[in-house]
Amino acid sequence: MENIDKKTLLIIQPRSTLRYAIEQYSSKLGFSTRFAKDGSTAASLVRAEKIDIIVMDVESKNESGFETISNIRQNSTERWIPIIVCTGLANEEDLERAINAGADDYLVLPVSETILAAKIKVMERIVDMQEELAKKTRKLAILAERDSLTGLYNRRAFLEKLTLIPASEGKTNAYLLMIDIDHFKLFNDEYGHPAGDECIKKVANVLSEALRGPTDLVARYGGEEFIALFRSCDPTFAEEKIESIRLAVMNLNIENKKSTTSKFITISIGCHKWIMTNRDINSAIQISDSSLYEAKKSGRNKYLIN
Ligand code: GH3
Ligand code: MG
Ligand code: MG
Repeated sequence: MENIDKKTLLIIQPRSTLRYAIEQYSSKLGFSTRFAKDGSTAASLVRAEKIDIIVMDVESKNESGFETISNIRQNSTERWIPIIVCTGLANEEDLERAINAGADDYLVLPVSETILAAKIKVMERIVDMQEELAKKTRKLAILAERDSLTGLYNRRAFLEKLTLIPASEGKTNAYLLMIDIDHFKLFNDEYGHPAGDECIKKVANVLSEALRGPTDLVARYGGEEFIALFRSCDPTFAEEKIESIRLAVMNLNIENKKSTTSKFITISIGCHKWIMTNRDINSAIQISDSSLYEAKKSGRNKYLIN
């Protein structure tokens, strides 16, 4: 059975004896091999499969091997695939041309198994490093858009994702929510900062449970403040959803002894009913923010929509 972790080496070589020899060498090194007799077959293989290393000739009857190198380089920009040229063309101009076209090494035939194997191993090492780096970059990209306490998106990621919503989706009403925990300073004063952190996490959980639709967005805006967006054509449904979020936080029953407005942790929600074809995000946030301010001023533990 073929090992799925095996790397793939593509041989572009019209001559079958050479091809057979390279196939033997690379199999011994643990590669699975693919074969292309010309540049266009090679190009479609590179598009269709994950090719890790290419060993190729630049001598060809019908087309220039140098062009094949350039094509592969231009068409696989996301990932670097090492290209080792293994050819009978021994002059320095050809070597220079191949390297300029994008080749990474140039071996003149006859080449011993030891030398070719060594060259392949070196390229494999660089491929491994590249993959390691790509994995770390992907992890970092995920971390960079998350808030470390709650796991929600951070403010920057939220704003970025908001700008990425296609204009065609902007026609439905969007509800932009600014959500703030009530009397949270008093909670921290009474129960301590670590308990405060736990409380923020629980509220964040409620929000991500309530807003987990494919087009919903929720983020920690900063401190004990959150921002969220959901879309709905039905104003009654939208209001019910906002109210259910308020109730769900209250129903966490997190005691807030010193609060002057409720015995438990509550939130105030300021909402802007937003037609997203108007993409002025800042003014939309400002409207939600002033709704929140009004909600706070008029008693907290409530939502207001503008
Ligand atoms: P209001 O009802 O008007 O919103 O009053 P409030 O006390 O919630 O608002 P205020 O802005 O006065 O205080 C917010 C508090 O939130 C102060 C700050 O120490 C606390 N806070 C902000 N971020 C964190 C955090 O990550 N962890 C903890 N434990 N506390 C935080
Ligand atoms: Mg607050
Ligand atoms: Mg606040």
